[in-house]
Amino acid sequence: MAEKICVAVRVRPSISEESPSGTFWKIEDNRISLHKLHGTPISGLSYAFDHVFDESCSNSKVYELLTKDVIHAAVDGFNGTAFAYGQTSSGKTFTMNGSLNDPGIIHRAVNDVFQKIQMISDREFLIRVSYMEIYNEEINDLFAVENQKLPIHESLERGIFVAGLREEIVNNAEQVIKLLESGEVNRHFGETNMNARSSRSHTIFRMVIESKGIDTGSGDYSSSDAIRVSVLNLVDLAGSERIAKTGAGGVRLKEGKYINKSLMVLGNVINKLSNGAKQRAHIPYRDSKLTRILQTALGGNAKTSIICTVAPEEVHVEETKGTLQFASRAKRITNCAQVNEILTDAALLKRQQLEIEDLRRKLQGSRSEVLEQEILKLRNDMLKYELEREKLEMELEEERRSHKEREQRIRDQQLKIENLSSLVSDGDRSSSQDSMKESPKDECNDFKTPCFKETSNNAFVAKRSNYSELPDFSPLPDSFSNVADEDTWFKMNKGYIADLDSLQTTPARKVQSFPPQDITPDCSNDNYKLELQNLKTQLELVIKEKDELQRKHEEEVQINRRLMGEISELTQELDLSNNSLESSEQRHGNLEREFQKLKDERDSLLQTVSESSKNITFLTDQKENILKDLNSEVQRRKDLEAEIKQFSVAFASRQRSLASIHGEFKSKIEKLRAENLVRY
Ligand code: ADP
Ligand code: MG
Repeated sequence: MAEKICVAVRVRPSISEESPSGTFWKIEDNRISLHKLHGTPISGLSYAFDHVFDESCSNSKVYELLTKDVIHAAVDGFNGTAFAYGQTSSGKTFTMNGSLNDPGIIHRAVNDVFQKIQMISDREFLIRVSYMEIYNEEINDLFAVENQKLPIHESLERGIFVAGLREEIVNNAEQVIKLLESGEVNRHFGETNMNARSSRSHTIFRMVIESKGIDTGSGDYSSSDAIRVSVLNLVDLAGSERIAKTGAGGVRLKEGKYINKSLMVLGNVINKLSNGAKQRAHIPYRDSKLTRILQTALGGNAKTSIICTVAPEEVHVEETKGTLQFASRAKRITNCAQVNEILTDAALLKRQQLEIEDLRRKLQGSRSEVLEQEILKLRNDMLKYELEREKLEMELEEERRSHKEREQRIRDQQLKIENLSSLVSDGDRSSSQDSMKESPKDECNDFKTPCFKETSNNAFVAKRSNYSELPDFSPLPDSFSNVADEDTWFKMNKGYIADLDSLQTTPARKVQSFPPQDITPDCSNDNYKLELQNLKTQLELVIKEKDELQRKHEEEVQINRRLMGEISELTQELDLSNNSLESSEQRHGNLEREFQKLKDERDSLLQTVSESSKNITFLTDQKENILKDLNSEVQRRKDLEAEIKQFSVAFASRQRSLASIHGEFKSKIEKLRAENLVRY
């Protein structure tokens, strides 16, 4: 069912002592408006929201009115997101984390989730949490400092997720609070100025709640039931103030740029979503890490509430207006939340069910705390193993890809080397020949310097084949005794443009003006002179040509040298590539071994668990036997006591009768003594 995002504004108490001189923000019910100091509201600057909380409002009230429903819905299987938006020091962190006396939304949500699931007796729950930070467009794990720059992945089974992020399975609120505290410590780690960082990073605390109905009749867990999976995001955004106000350069500017990017994309996404269904064609979720992670929370399958925190001071009026405009746009967004029920094995609860049931059976009879602890430990071990496996699989995949790329590169290089070698051998052949006898085609091929710049794969080969198909355009005249006409000159010199100029300075035109070859030998002295002149010119031309060819030859030798150099460089590169291939193969092997080791570890872990449960069963049996013995001992003792009692009663009566006999005797003796005395 389509429903609007719930939006509230919270004004923090004023920090400055100064009283306002021009304007102030007034709150009436769910409306906030800018007023002139002693007068009327300023038109166009009055905004209404689902709630407007004034400076006296506690976190507990904010939670009750704004977020509680989202949290309860998450327990029932709806995705939920609550995030705090606002300029730095407007109270975002105060709202999300709270203080000792007044815990924030995250603590309250965690407590509430566990309280609520305690009351649901017909479902079994599995809850895991993670905590991440987006800083400079990089995702870092706040539960594990070593997990930095984590990538976002998407799969059919898991949807959009941060790969390699640590998740912890938790049984109670205290565990979560402890984890959160350790996360905060990690956030401080290595930071000299915590405030600077916190106002520039987004933090996302995430709870994944899985649940499954229990068949209360038999107390069994039926494996075919659908499992509900919901994701709850609690987000403390970076400060939304404009960068101009921060006015910082260098690193801060770079950070600011990134924040701007994430928040700008968030703004764009919210703008597009608030424009209604028609313009929803493309929502740029992928433009930033933040919007990608929160994709379902914005215009998707989730219940979402936004708390926009503002500062009341007059200096912040512009920022506050910006925040209120953002909030107004967000209010127009509709989401479509539904319970997420899945039947595949994607749910962790389902995947862990069998092993847990096994353990439960084995531990039957032992105390429930032991059972719960053992189960939690087993669950976390299994989750860790799974995450580790996922990470290794990704690394393996990555390794395989780069391995392939490297192989391709090596193949390309080998091809290149082959081409170069053939080119060099062509060059060698041509330079070893007498230049005058060369065929025009070869001459042309060898003269031009081939282009070695690779534009794309195989481009080099393509270039070379084009090359060899150049037209036969530079023929030499059949015999040098022939007089070359202008066309022949042109043909001869095509391709050697540089020399065309110098040729023009030679008496080429005179040659051109010569009468044809069939001049008779019986000519005049003049004719003879002319012929001599002609021959001289031809000789000059031949010498020039020879020089030209000499120059070409030298150039070729140079090219060959360069080619040899390139070949040796390429060979070196090939060696390097081979080395890196080897090392990557080694890494690959190592990873496989590690993978195997982890598998073995898991097996031995399961073995230990089963052994320990066997021990527990054994101990329980022993305990029962001892109890039985003890009971029979107690019974015997009771019997003995009864006997002793009877005995002592009998003894007492005997004593009494003996005493009376003794008395009788005594009196008889007394009597006899008295009689004796009387007699004598
Ligand atoms: P932000 O996270 O938006 O940068 P903080 O949450 O760190 O801002 O708040 C800045 C300061 O203002 C903190 O000292 C915080 O304790 C105080 N503060 C913020 N909101 C409130 C509030 N509603 N009540 C009391 N103190 C607040
Ligand atoms: Mg903060």
